Amino acid sequence: MARRNRLSKAEKQNLVLRHAEHLISLAEEVYDSDPSLAHGYAEEIVKSALRVNLRLPSRIKRRICRKCRHFLMPGRNARVRTSQGHVVSTCLDCGHISRFGYTREQKEKRSPGRAQEEAGKEAGKN
Ligand SMILES: [Zn+2]
Repeated sequence: MARRNRLSKAEKQNLVLRHAEHLISLAEEVYDSDPSLAHGYAEEIVKSALRVNLRLPSRIKRRICRKCRHFLMPGRNARVRTSQGHVVSTCLDCGHISRFGYTREQKEKRSPGRAQEEAGKEAGKN
């Protein structure tokens, strides 16, 4: 890769993540007046995450349809249910069903920023 960018990979990922969080809240705001704009934001999040190899946190991932990359607005174009420890969200635009476990998210909430440390421990165990 060309060395025109001074930012490290982690810094880029961090920027993309913050940008993604910003775009998600923008998408929420504009969805009512302009759903296609909201879908455009969702697509931009997915594309930029792919570009820097960022794994989107579930709080963002669950707002975007994996199949049609539409922004998912619960109660509007998405149906969100919980069953057996999973959040099941159905994209009403393409019918794609995504399941997210929420135990891991609760773990992340309890110890923010310690994901890497946890991952190291996991690796040692195996
Ligand atoms: Zn969809």
